[in-house]
Amino acid sequence: MKPAPFTYHRPAGLDEALDVLDQVGSDGKVLAGGQSLLPLLSMRLAAPAHLVDVNHLPGLDVVEVTADVVRCGALVRHTDLLRHPAAFDAQPLLRRALQHVAHPTIRNRGTTVGSICHADPAAEMPAVTLLLGGTLVVRSRRGERRIAAADLFAGPLETTLATDELAVAVEWPVTAPRESTAIVEVSRRHGDYAVCGVAAQVRVDEDGTVRAARAVYVSMGLTPPVLDLTGAVAGQHVERADWAGAAALATEQLEPEADIHASADYRRHLAGVLTRRAFEEAG
Ligand SMILES: Cc1cc2nc3c(=O)[nH]c(=O)nc-3n(C[C@H](O)[C@H](O)[C@H](O)COP(=O)(O)OP(=O)(O)OC[C@H]3O[C@@H](n4cnc5c(N)ncnc54)[C@H](O)[C@@H]3O)c2cc1C
Repeated sequence: MKPAPFTYHRPAGLDEALDVLDQVGSDGKVLAGGQSLLPLLSMRLAAPAHLVDVNHLPGLDVVEVTADVVRCGALVRHTDLLRHPAAFDAQPLLRRALQHVAHPTIRNRGTTVGSICHADPAAEMPAVTLLLGGTLVVRSRRGERRIAAADLFAGPLETTLATDELAVAVEWPVTAPRESTAIVEVSRRHGDYAVCGVAAQVRVDEDGTVRAARAVYVSMGLTPPVLDLTGAVAGQHVERADWAGAAALATEQLEPEADIHASADYRRHLAGVLTRRAFEEAG
């Protein structure tokens, strides 16, 4: 199918883009890499009257690493972040998660900020952003605001961004001392959306006992559920911790949906197996 007719806008600067977004309101959509939006338009699952192509805005294609955060501009493609050595050193979970995102051609074009704005509960980067406590930096003609990931995802393909707002960057905290992470998932073919995915984060004290253990899930709810599983393993040495107990605690709390790829029971079973693996790898 072909998209419904729309007016194409190609602003050359941020102020111009924000003016257009302000004028078109809920009739408009930001176009970044187009890897999610264009299929939706082609299938006529979305039919905005205005497309605001932000690909020509200067300064948004930069990854910056400071002592506190990895900041990724809105036009940074998945591939660029995946290959960024300083970002990997500062927060290795980003690259590990991006390796599971789609195929190289899609990663070459799709932006990481676009993936977060798209808010697909089957996508890795919204989930990882929640686990890490990331922040979306958003601009509109009203100014700048910062949205914590915990306040961003309202439902499947739904965020708390207003229609006149453009996300200009996302920031993730760098790895804390004595923190480790891992991500594991099962998909039908490599590069497909996961049937179930789990990213885990473990923090330990100086003597190696577990202080915190949290996990986030991909394809396991309307928004990615973040579970605090510390209760199952707190005070245990990280190398001998009861990760099976943490996995059991997780499966009690998860409420996955069934779809054409998997029943809810199968997803819950997978989540248990993958939770244990993710923590064993991270721990
Ligand atoms: C075949 C295929 C397989 C895929 N597999 C996976 C997968 O396994 N895992 C995964 O995570 N993803 C997967 N994807 C999705 C892909 O990673 C994302 O679609 C892509 O990264 C989204 O970024 P984009 O720049 O292409 O966004 P676009 O498609 O341009 O936009 C997506 C949405 O976000 C909004 N948006 C984008 N940028 C901004 C911004 N700066 N400010 C405000 N709103 C914005 C748009 O208006 C739109 O609503 C797959 C896609 C395809 C086509």
